[in-house]
Amino acid sequence: MSNSHVILAADAPVSKTVDDDAAWDRVRRRLRAELGDDVFSSWFGRLELLGLAGEMAHLTVPTRFLKSWIQSHYMDRLRSLVFEEFIGLSEIQVAVRSAAIKPVQKPHSAAGHDTTTRERAPSERMLSDAPTQPERVVTSETDSLGGAPLDRRLTFTNFLVGKSNQLAHAAAERVARHTQGETPLYNPLYVHAGVGLGKTHLLHAIAHETMAQGRRVIYLTADRFMYGFVAALKAQTALNFKERLRGIDLLVIDDVQFLQGKSIQQEFCHTLNALIDSGRQIVIAADRPPSDLESLDERVKSRLAGGLAVEMGPLDESLRVRIIEARIASARQHQPSFDVSPAVISYVAQAIISNGRDLDGAVNRLLAHSTLTGGALTVEAAETAIRDLVRAREPRKVKIEDIQKLVATHFNVSRADILSSRRSAGVVKPRQIAMYLAKVLTLRSLPEIGRRFGGRDHTTVLHAVRKIEGAVSADSGLRDDVELLKRMLQD
Ligand code: ADP
Ligand code: MG
Repeated sequence: MSNSHVILAADAPVSKTVDDDAAWDRVRRRLRAELGDDVFSSWFGRLELLGLAGEMAHLTVPTRFLKSWIQSHYMDRLRSLVFEEFIGLSEIQVAVRSAAIKPVQKPHSAAGHDTTTRERAPSERMLSDAPTQPERVVTSETDSLGGAPLDRRLTFTNFLVGKSNQLAHAAAERVARHTQGETPLYNPLYVHAGVGLGKTHLLHAIAHETMAQGRRVIYLTADRFMYGFVAALKAQTALNFKERLRGIDLLVIDDVQFLQGKSIQQEFCHTLNALIDSGRQIVIAADRPPSDLESLDERVKSRLAGGLAVEMGPLDESLRVRIIEARIASARQHQPSFDVSPAVISYVAQAIISNGRDLDGAVNRLLAHSTLTGGALTVEAAETAIRDLVRAREPRKVKIEDIQKLVATHFNVSRADILSSRRSAGVVKPRQIAMYLAKVLTLRSLPEIGRRFGGRDHTTVLHAVRKIEGAVSADSGLRDDVELLKRMLQD
């Protein structure tokens, strides 16, 4: 990491043009595509381009925590994306923005909105998926504690129930309609499911319903818990911890798999205990069961598992059909001419098996197609419109352990060799292939893959991924090997 530019950059004026904004937008889009919506919005949603000075790009985030997280986990990737999209740059710097630093050319915030609200809104995933529609947002009540906004559309009424989610839905309704004053039945309620299967939707629904009964709700994402909520609690130093939490009837935390760090975990555990002991409800969502939350310590895991943990499975075809129909119905309110035949609906439901987010994407594409062409929406036209989504179909759940075992067997080494620090060629190559497969076949992050491969650094994993990507395109024998392994793991 070079710091020779720091002094120069401090003197040079920071400015940016419309082209710079466009380049920055491309960097963001590529990051989002690489990391997925959740990771992207957790760490990069609030990363802004302040401007360029000399050969340096100045980026800003609102908190020290985000800055150090990005620096320790994503700096290499960020740097190379910036250098690819901006010509002539040689360094980047991430700083914490203060009230004094204002990005040039920012649109004015609406009167009555302070800067924190303005910064927050676009970082929420659901808002950034679609053109911003402020009316979709309501803010949960105890906002002095750093709660995130809720999406108005994510209610129980709009949540469709099928085999895969009926248990989670029933538990969620029980929790939301629970009589005040009674001890909560399921506490915490822990919902886990893969990406796009409705966790956030269910959490927002519980929050809306509870707020409608006049109870005080705070909805947080894991990163917001880490820097906003804990800091807000600490700022109210006059009161003790329990008193500070007394204002909350329901605490909802989304994507808890992103909670990291020892002191944060202590706060988290402390909060869980204080709330549960005083009879307040906690609802949590994550992409895996409590026992698989590798970064959490045992006490926290067991407290999480102490309530009710329910899994939501993949959406079955009939549920997919109903979700598509519901999306079409709501699009028709704005565009009555949008007409989709049952054949097209059934085609989309069969083609998009991955998740609710892709179903939303598919309906948006159908809508765009029908608006732009005005023509009838045939199955062929639908196929073209959603082709990229079908191709991006999520690989089925593959375990890193299975990858390691299969690759070891295939290359005639042991799994221990793969996890070891041995550097002989006979071991390095299988290890790199296994890391590459872990990256492309699972949703695990690079740091996490590194941990699962004998505690390696994420840059080592990144290096392996790049290496194998390169090797596969040059060496057809290796390509066949890798394809075969992929197929064996996915069948
Ligand atoms: P997750 O948080 O699990 O990644 P989301 O809750 O964001 O998933 O869901 C992704 C999209 O799919 C949202 O638009 C959501 O409304 C929709 N969706 C998922 N499950 C359902 C469901 N059972 N009924 C209606 N919409 C759903
Ligand atoms: Mg979610």
